[in-house]
Amino acid sequence: MSVKRIKGVIFDMDGTVVDVPYDWKRIKQELQTQGEPILSHIQSLREPERSKKWAILERFEEEATAQATLKEGMEKFLAFLKKKRIKTALVTNNSRKNLEFLLNKFRLSFDLLLSREAGLWKPSGAPFLFVLKNLGIRNTECCVIGDSHFDVKAAESAGIKRIFVLTQKMERQFSTGIEIVSTVKELEDKISNIL
Ligand SMILES: [Mg+2]
Repeated sequence: MSVKRIKGVIFDMDGTVVDVPYDWKRIKQELQTQGEPILSHIQSLREPERSKKWAILERFEEEATAQATLKEGMEKFLAFLKKKRIKTALVTNNSRKNLEFLLNKFRLSFDLLLSREAGLWKPSGAPFLFVLKNLGIRNTECCVIGDSHFDVKAAESAGIKRIFVLTQKMERQFSTGIEIVSTVKELEDKISNIL
């Protein structure tokens, strides 16, 4: 594959653009997801169980979102991408309400926003394919920045080969070819090399 310069960057929201204190282990326990991804688990339930579990998830998300902080250097990095005319998308399995709360709070903007209401959820590649189509770019011209296995899986399914994982937990195991970075500054340095 020839190495193309990138024209677009897809960001995950929680844990990537913002730090949010989620205790996913506890949330999964409370929702009794039995190893299934949370959203597809809830969606597969019958009423009234489904609505009950949506409400539990939304309560956890709202509490966490209220405590979110912007990742250090993120504002500068987004301004840098804008200046370079790189398209940006924010793709989250979180709700539109929480997404808008965070964008307003930190005064951020992206060219394309995709929240779970679209029905395209990570770890499926569908949300990223939607973004590529709508931004008019190829998977070889795009990179994904996330913090979890869901982001990596979704990128791989969409055929996006440039994947950056922003995390300080260096013990995490990801497949080869994934770039692990611990700060936004480090990310900016790496991305500026492929623009
Ligand atoms: Mg995340």
